Amino acid sequence: MPTVSRRGFLKLGAAGTGAVALGGLGFDLVQARGVAQQLRIQGAREAHSVCPYCAVGCSLVAYTSRQPDGSVKLLQIEGDPDSPVNEGRLCPKGATAMQLATSARRVAQPLHRPAGATEWQPISWDSALDRIAANIKRSRDATFVTQDANGNTVNRCEGIAFAGGAAYSNEEGYIATKVMRALGVVHLEQQARV
Ligand code: SF4
Repeated sequence: MPTVSRRGFLKLGAAGTGAVALGGLGFDLVQARGVAQQLRIQGAREAHSVCPYCAVGCSLVAYTSRQPDGSVKLLQIEGDPDSPVNEGRLCPKGATAMQLATSARRVAQPLHRPAGATEWQPISWDSALDRIAANIKRSRDATFVTQDANGNTVNRCEGIAFAGGAAYSNEEGYIATKVMRALGVVHLEQQARV
């Protein structure tokens, strides 16, 4: 019995061929119906989003379905064919966007590796934020420069660098930049440019 790929099935359907013609092609309608029922996105809700990985901003279509327990399951993410930016395409990185939500390797809580340790240890968000705040304060106090070598007033912190994430929204990027500038940090970079 011939096997039918999803792409092949859709092509045949789009060509408007009838049952007789399909039969003439050796096409098994029972099998085709089974293929249609197996489509992962059958009956799914469609939502539009933007790839978070870089500044190109490719558009995505995310398919979700409501589960019997009320939860929402992400079924598939693919390029949006209606987008003038990417016209349905995604680069290899963007094509893995679904794993941002579903990967078993996704880090879901702060981890800390103490000096000399070989393993990462889970810590609470409160502990992580307290530790980050304490380290920023200590580094800023130790490296803040009020004047450069020529006596010019600069008031900058040279001991801290900040890298923003490409998943930032405009507003998150704005507030992060403002906070860093307020601390005197001059080494600002963005992951999307790296
Ligand atoms: S990472 Fe790839 S898919 Fe995502 S916005 Fe950039 S070019 Fe597009």
